[in-house]
Amino acid sequence: LADRDGLIWYDGKLVPWREATTHVCTHTLHYGMGVFEGLRAYKTARGTAIFRLEEHTDRLYRSAHIFGMKIPYDRQTLLEAQKEVVRANRLESCYVRPIAFYGAEALGISAKTISVHVAIAAWPWGAYLGAEGLEKGIRVKTSSFCRHHVNVTMCKAKAVGSYSNSILANQEATNDGYDEALLLDVDGYVAEGSGENIFIVRNGVIYTPDLTSALEGITRDTVIQLAREAGLTVVEKRITRDEVYIADEAFFTGTAAEVTPIRELDNRRIGAGTRGPVTAKLQSMFFDVVNGRSEKHLGWLSFV
Ligand code: PMP
Repeated sequence: LADRDGLIWYDGKLVPWREATTHVCTHTLHYGMGVFEGLRAYKTARGTAIFRLEEHTDRLYRSAHIFGMKIPYDRQTLLEAQKEVVRANRLESCYVRPIAFYGAEALGISAKTISVHVAIAAWPWGAYLGAEGLEKGIRVKTSSFCRHHVNVTMCKAKAVGSYSNSILANQEATNDGYDEALLLDVDGYVAEGSGENIFIVRNGVIYTPDLTSALEGITRDTVIQLAREAGLTVVEKRITRDEVYIADEAFFTGTAAEVTPIRELDNRRIGAGTRGPVTAKLQSMFFDVVNGRSEKHLGWLSFV
């Protein structure tokens, strides 16, 4: 990803893609304290629009707040900068990655005297769990690694350091031939995927784990709202792994993963082992919204 044409917003300026580098003594590189976001822009009939830009940007500031990190740019600047990156790279559909990280003035645990930098990159990125996964569903394995304890890593923050846990889980699952991992919390209840929130459907009711140790996903929030608009009941509660085994349907949500059906967990087929009708309905509502085909939700789109 480093060797390509394009422009990256870096500390207030658009710089050539290959020049958007940082020193090897960068504090975040050593100690993993940084915060980031992941957004998608979609091509719509009215032009390209970033989905829920404001909510993602607010979460970036909340993540920084949790860690006591001061982002040296105001909200309006970063909202505009994210749109500018998509425009400047002439992207119609893409993924957008803002990151705030500590600079290279000094190493040592304390970041008090270290400057905070912000970079925003954008590039085309297809279906995260595969186009076939979106249609047919993916195979998931419960991870031997637990999701973070709420008093070890701050689960409400989308923080750089949290993702070594995600990588351990994803690596384990994919090395064993599965598409993605499902992480349980420290009490053994279902938390989330390595980069997705999870939902199950049973007897027409939709369930999703409460947000104790899962990220407050913006796609999760979107899907909950869309489900309720469709007259479906959504319940947030603790879920066990065997509830997933016996669910009629299950799916992951995330900016990268969008709405991806889960057809199998731990080699147990879920429901009919295909994308179920509720998942299909929510997936199609979701794609209508992000692609600008839903008048009602145009407010979630920020045209670049
Ligand atoms: N959980 C984790 C661990 C994630 O990395 C993500 C992706 N940001 C999500 C859930 C889904 O969040 P969102 O829908 O806001 O992308």
